[in-house]
Amino acid sequence: MTAAVTEYVCEDCGSLLTHLNPTTLQSIIEVHSQLCPVKRQKILAAVEAEKTKRVAATRASNVPVQAVQTAAGAPPSAASIPQQVSTQSNAPASMDSSNLPLTGTGTNHTAAEGPIDVGFKSSRQPAGKFQGIQVWGPYDAPGQLGIWGTDVCVDFDICVSDGACIDACPVNVYEWLDTPGHPASERKPFMIREKDCIFCLACENVCPPQAIKIFKK
Ligand code: SF4
Repeated sequence: MTAAVTEYVCEDCGSLLTHLNPTTLQSIIEVHSQLCPVKRQKILAAVEAEKTKRVAATRASNVPVQAVQTAAGAPPSAASIPQQVSTQSNAPASMDSSNLPLTGTGTNHTAAEGPIDVGFKSSRQPAGKFQGIQVWGPYDAPGQLGIWGTDVCVDFDICVSDGACIDACPVNVYEWLDTPGHPASERKPFMIREKDCIFCLACENVCPPQAIKIFKK
């Protein structure tokens, strides 16, 4: 009897991927997804489109011209815009009194095993927010931090601070957040620019303990 060949056609570049073993094919698809040049081009085009939108929005608002100009007075490059317009969301935690605390008496917890529970929005309760980002309990800092995010979600109790997600993200959604006293790792990828996510799934695919779940809008 001849085994059936499982196939997959990349929707971006049209490449045909085949393998007899469906599990192996899935791995091949994930690797291809990371390396596909056409997909990469689409992501970069989406990033540029988003930057163009922001420049237009910045100009439409009453933001002083100096705020978006370079020191030399020239118009800002597209690459410089995200950092400038996100200054407010990067404000230190201490400036927002509604932030959940990162310290406390929860020191007897252990690291959780991946993968993240993708049904957590039904099974968990909102515990509060940190710099505007939703946090889902149970929450007992510093040892139990729950799942963070609404669309870009990371289980901080699973995260081992590998950093692949931060490197993979083409639009800089994440930045490091120090979480001293957590049993899995003492810094986490904080999705402070969650609203910038273009849902490429790069971070979800590279996370070793599978602590990330992206909810596409
Ligand atoms: S899916 Fe992950 S890597 Fe892709 S844009 Fe969103 S946060 Fe960044």
